[in-house]
Amino acid sequence: MKVTIVSPKIYTYGPLILGGILKERGHTVTITRDLRSDGEATLLSLFSTSQLLDPEIRKFAKSCPQIYVGGPVGLVPEIVLGELEVDAVVMGEGEEVVARVVEKGPSAEIPGVAFHQEGKVVKTKPEPVEPLDHVMPLIPEDLKSQNVRGANVYIETHRGCLGGCTFCQVPRFFGRSIRSRSLENILDEVREMKRMGVSRVAVSGGTGSLFGYGKEVNKEAFITLLRSLAEILGPRNLSVPDMRVDFVDEEILEAVRRYTIGWVFFGIESGSEKMLKKMKKGTTPEKNLEAVELAHSCGVKVGGSFIVGYPGESEEDYQATLDFMDEAMLEDVFSSVAEPIPGTPLARLALDYPKGENLLYQDHLGDYRALKLSEAEARCFNLMLHGQNCKLIPKIVDDRMYSAFLEEARTQGRDVRRVMDLLEKYKDHVA
Ligand code: SF4
Repeated sequence: MKVTIVSPKIYTYGPLILGGILKERGHTVTITRDLRSDGEATLLSLFSTSQLLDPEIRKFAKSCPQIYVGGPVGLVPEIVLGELEVDAVVMGEGEEVVARVVEKGPSAEIPGVAFHQEGKVVKTKPEPVEPLDHVMPLIPEDLKSQNVRGANVYIETHRGCLGGCTFCQVPRFFGRSIRSRSLENILDEVREMKRMGVSRVAVSGGTGSLFGYGKEVNKEAFITLLRSLAEILGPRNLSVPDMRVDFVDEEILEAVRRYTIGWVFFGIESGSEKMLKKMKKGTTPEKNLEAVELAHSCGVKVGGSFIVGYPGESEEDYQATLDFMDEAMLEDVFSSVAEPIPGTPLARLALDYPKGENLLYQDHLGDYRALKLSEAEARCFNLMLHGQNCKLIPKIVDDRMYSAFLEEARTQGRDVRRVMDLLEKYKDHVA
């Protein structure tokens, strides 16, 4: 069968694996970032709720005769089936499911699918894939020219996260126990990617150092992984961005410095202990600061991500975040308006939270009043500006940067309000 896999705008990793599986089963598979398909069946991979509202994606889905949606949006399939004209949704991990759906159509015999039948949504329980090793992914010719935050591609080394952060879909989609690929399976894939011209690879997923996790962090497995990948790619071409502060120590950070581009990204989220508790982050501002200082002392640069506008965030909590940034002197800062992703505890919390108290809907009356931002957007914008000021060597914010930050904060506010509207529409299914 002729199958087209569409991964809009960027090649994410899941579609490459599914492409490899379908190809091995004898299908003729094309993978593209454009919204086009000449396949008898189309797989559409979507990672964000906002994509469900994109008019181009909606039009494309409607135009395909046999189309199935997969990816993180599958966590709440009722929303996907309600918003897009598609034949079925793959709700969990797709490896064992996609070929059966493509070849025979969705049915209640296949685990982890949702589809309409006689006016109702039929859903079957997803099953986690174990073991995780898989066939060679389908590597598109132009993967080598993709640039996603400096990498051509993000690869997967393991699934699951021990954390239970309320805003995150990783533990809800992949579970809270860790399943790792074998080192050889990962290295074979990276060698093939290199042969196809891919030079810069990032390791994706919640916490890089959980690779090989058994009953505790398996430092040896993680360090061997980095060293082996660096031997293939060269250390300047490898990054392991995402780390939890409680799963790093000197040895791990030393390996990051030695075998990768030498950066880590910590999900710090807030400088307020109260907010970290509400987010079930499992860390404290003190632990976060210690981890940043440890990374710096090991010669590793640190990017930190922060969430603003989380339900219950007071001005004092927000000020604590700014104070944290002053102390931590991060090399880079990412600021996000809290997004209640359907299927996460935050989605239910945001729905139940009084709208009048939600910072997304409150006019900002402070220093940026003239910009007509919501309070959540103003905090997001201000945090981006502050991130430039509190670097070791502060960066001057020119007009271009100022406008880009402002646009980014406005876009985030608008997108999250749209997500809130969707949650309201599907409130019986969101969590
Ligand atoms: S935010 Fe990071 S640590 Fe928290 S659950 Fe998600 S992946 Fe795990």
